[in-house]
Amino acid sequence: MSTFTPAFLDELRNRLTLSEVIGRRVKVTRAGREFKACCPFHKEKSPSFTINDAKGFFHCFGCGAHGDVIGFTMRQENRSFPEAVDILAAMAGMQVPKSSPEEAKRYEEEKNLYTLIEDAAKWFEEQLRIPSGRIALDYAKRRNLSEETISRFRLGFAPNDAQALIKYNL
Ligand SMILES: [Zn+2]
Repeated sequence: MSTFTPAFLDELRNRLTLSEVIGRRVKVTRAGREFKACCPFHKEKSPSFTINDAKGFFHCFGCGAHGDVIGFTMRQENRSFPEAVDILAAMAGMQVPKSSPEEAKRYEEEKNLYTLIEDAAKWFEEQLRIPSGRIALDYAKRRNLSEETISRFRLGFAPNDAQALIKYNL
């Protein structure tokens, strides 16, 4: 069992160039200061998947997929967070630090919280796209928010039911 300090993860992200890691899986082409590719996470013919090496993030304007090099690897290789870090550390030539049981436990708890928050964020985003969220989506459009802005900032809609998210999670 291993856990990773923020410093270790920063070092890992710094050593790897996101466009190169993604370029191992899909064809990427330079577009100004960014790179473009056909999104590996949804079917498309014209590229709406952008990679920003300076920020270390990818973003798909088609399906909203978004993340860093670790997120990409988790999704692309269908791996857990620690597995993805192991793969990337090997790629970057870094030793994965071993951790104490306490650290491992804390790490698991944090990871569960992140997963929970991510699940909730996805749920709110979905609410904006279903018929009952139409009123909020129309409102966003009236305020001149583009699809790009809505997906980049991960806007969502909270229905008028305080229990809705909890019910969904049950
Ligand atoms: Zn996509």
